[in-house]
Amino acid sequence: MKGTLEVVIGPMYAGKTEELIRRVVRRKIAKQNGVIFKILSDTRNRDPLVVSRAGTHFEAEFVKDASDAKKYINSGLDYVAFDEAQFFGEDLIQVVKEFIDVGTDVIVSGLNLDFRGEVFENVMRIAAMADEIVLLKAVCVVCGKDATLTQRLIFKDGEWVPASSKDPVFKVEGSDVEIKYEPRCKDCWKVGE
Ligand SMILES: [Zn+2]
Repeated sequence: MKGTLEVVIGPMYAGKTEELIRRVVRRKIAKQNGVIFKILSDTRNRDPLVVSRAGTHFEAEFVKDASDAKKYINSGLDYVAFDEAQFFGEDLIQVVKEFIDVGTDVIVSGLNLDFRGEVFENVMRIAAMADEIVLLKAVCVVCGKDATLTQRLIFKDGEWVPASSKDPVFKVEGSDVEIKYEPRCKDCWKVGE
């Protein structure tokens, strides 16, 4: 039997990791065996744990890229989960297919859109194959409406301003530009020139 594919998408601060952990916890209760993968370049947290903003956590395995997870393909796992899928790149699409083909269920959580409002291709191509998609929303920090977008702000000349659409999608390692993110609705979300 082929594996199933569950995909959790949404902006930052929408509870995607929390939802991934909730799904893994249910599987643990059902005595299933699996692994949560996390990419090493996620600089937010270097502990081998998946930690949600609400503070729940789960042990994860760090991999340097998607193909690094392939060593588990024939190990008979019931499920695998990929947190922050946008960091795994295009290779993740093929890796997800291979797990499904050998009967391992796959859970993927990640951003559907970057701070510019552009699609994360790998995440959305995986979502297109999903048996179930969950689109989570955050709360707009400006007006309180549902937030579907991620606002990037940079600290410039003493104030926080919208990042430029020409800035790199991922924060450059070692860059001294101060960056912060906020969940925002379409009306409050802005991208600089
Ligand atoms: Zn708003």
